[in-house]
Amino acid sequence: MRIHILTLFPDMFQGPFHNSIVKRAVDSALVEIHLHDIRQYTHDRHHTADDYQFGGDSGMVMKPEPIFEGVESILSDLTQLEMARTRVILTSPQGRLLDQSTVEELARQLHLIVICGHYEGVDERVLEHLITDEVSIGDYVLTGGELAAMVLTDAVVRLLPGAVGSEASVRGDSITTGLLQHPIYTRPAQFQEWGVPEVLLSGNHQEIKRWRRERSLERTFHQRPDLLARAKLTSQDIEFLGKLGFKGKENSRG
Ligand code: SAM
Repeated sequence: MRIHILTLFPDMFQGPFHNSIVKRAVDSALVEIHLHDIRQYTHDRHHTADDYQFGGDSGMVMKPEPIFEGVESILSDLTQLEMARTRVILTSPQGRLLDQSTVEELARQLHLIVICGHYEGVDERVLEHLITDEVSIGDYVLTGGELAAMVLTDAVVRLLPGAVGSEASVRGDSITTGLLQHPIYTRPAQFQEWGVPEVLLSGNHQEIKRWRRERSLERTFHQRPDLLARAKLTSQDIEFLGKLGFKGKENSRG
């Protein structure tokens, strides 16, 4: 996979992309990450990438020309087949919320081109004629799209086969399974006055599996009951949740 990020602040990516899983994935050629400074696609002496807003409101707007030129120069190197598996994404608080199913969809692409907005945002013609997706990382407003692009990249890269040591652990993560993950512990078995649940030390895999499933259901019920409406639940799960006060899937949209 290739991820292209168009930004006014390429230096912001130095830390996050040079550590841990993203770095390892780049080093082992699972992904290429290309940072493009939007100003390199400007042609005036001052490398102007933003301008005043038509209609006279406060705040600068990112100009369309350098963004179009940057994206088009990346697209021009792609074959028709590659184009079919390419997304041009604008980071924006107005976009669809990034969730695990969107991340999974993006991880199946060959190329992601991510545009980082700044100031008041980007000229509307970018939305109308250039992008395929508009993505928000949450209902809050960031200064720029760089942090959103980092979040998106991190979430996508860890799904690439081979990026994370244990694929089973990725499959068992919160949200990915449809539920929140069960509590996890490591050594020491006794820390200060707090021990680890006995069952985890018992070696009884059947019991451990049941304990984990129940804790996972319990947590989801208390912390994210909305997830239960979409989760795949067995009759045993529903029976267990019933004891906690779960009234059934149709009543769990919280
Ligand atoms: N004036 C814009 C609006 O009301 O929709 C907000 C602009 S924001 C200050 C500047 C840039 O930060 C946006 O263009 C976008 O790229 C990025 N951004 C802000 N919040 C974001 C979010 N929740 N998710 C993704 N990107 C965000």
